[in-house]
Amino acid sequence: MSLNISDIRSDFPILSQTIYKRPLIYFDNAATTQKPIQVIRAISDYYEHDNCNIHRGVHYLSVKATEAFEEARREIREFINAPSTHEVVFTKGASESLNLVAASFGKKFLLPGDEVITTIMEHHSNFVPWQLICEEKGAVLRVATILPDGELDLENLYSLISERTKIIALTHVSNVLGTVNPIKEIIAYAHKQGIPVLVDGAQGVSHLKVDVTDLGCDFYCFSGHKMYGPMGIGVLYGKEKWLEEMPPYQSGGEMVKDVTIEKTTFNELPFKFEAGTPNVEGVMGLRAAVKYLKDLGMDEIRAYEDKLLQRAVSSLSAIGGVRFFGEAPGKASLVSFLIGDIHPFDAGTIIDKMGIAVRTGHHCAQPLIDHFGIPGTVRASFAFYNTADEIDRLAEAVARVKTMFK
Ligand code: PLP
Repeated sequence: MSLNISDIRSDFPILSQTIYKRPLIYFDNAATTQKPIQVIRAISDYYEHDNCNIHRGVHYLSVKATEAFEEARREIREFINAPSTHEVVFTKGASESLNLVAASFGKKFLLPGDEVITTIMEHHSNFVPWQLICEEKGAVLRVATILPDGELDLENLYSLISERTKIIALTHVSNVLGTVNPIKEIIAYAHKQGIPVLVDGAQGVSHLKVDVTDLGCDFYCFSGHKMYGPMGIGVLYGKEKWLEEMPPYQSGGEMVKDVTIEKTTFNELPFKFEAGTPNVEGVMGLRAAVKYLKDLGMDEIRAYEDKLLQRAVSSLSAIGGVRFFGEAPGKASLVSFLIGDIHPFDAGTIIDKMGIAVRTGHHCAQPLIDHFGIPGTVRASFAFYNTADEIDRLAEAVARVKTMFK
């Protein structure tokens, strides 16, 4: 079934506003997505009816809030097809999930001289935590490169694997190039050599159907706010066998079983990694976002967004002088580009004045931007509430920028 875009748009109150006397066109979805009214209501309903600290009270509200929180965990487990709710840890977001694994897995398993493999297309959140832990442990960070069209260079990636490789950490979808990495194939290859794989799914879950069991990944990390849910909430999926062995990342209430003056024992999974009062409102909002995505259907979302992408690529190409970064087949719905030699900030500022929100700069992926030897790009990233008409407005704006700088 195809999506009813005008019905969908009416669920997103923020989209109906005008800016600079023009209808807002929001193409900064890779930075954060807008929230449907269902998500906004889930948060306010929680505070109006159920607010309470969870897991530790015997009274009515506490039990009700705890049940809703754990039901949300079950629904999110089902959404990504994780085998068990023990493997679904709530975090602040993808960055915290990635930091958790780098710090905790690194503490337990990395020795001097060991190696971690990542790629040149990573967001800083899946790069810097590994850089830091490698530095601390005397391990070596190896970085796989890309092909000219923005595909991961698999031959290069596989050539970096050695008997010292302890983990491969890579993104599912590049936030700059839109490249969808063949993670299932990479995971199968790595597992043959006994190497676990972490997938940064921050740009994956909002565009693709994610099945962590089918992928076989050891870890999968994502943020609520990039999938139509609230900010400040995210998920770490981790295989039980790793999470059991990994030491706690943070400590405090909730993550302990027994505390004496001499010693502390830790709570069972996933609570071992959920120190302190969790973001219950965030979990309620994320639960509503997951339901929203499931109701639309990830395959329908992907098909519609792909049409938007094709329209953007052809209309921007027709202008002439637009250089794209990331042209891998099957890429996700974003375009990163430069218009001649116009600085991306200048282009972005003018495009903004035409009511269109695009992102400019290095997109928190400086090693990749350095690889291209450019100051940054203009990035327009699309969501299922965007329209063909909005894409045409973007092409007009880009043509206007080109004329202004002639
Ligand atoms: N990984 C990728 C690929 C991203 O695009 C982002 C954010 O843009 C992150 C990680 C970090 O996500 P967050 O800032 O929500 O923690």
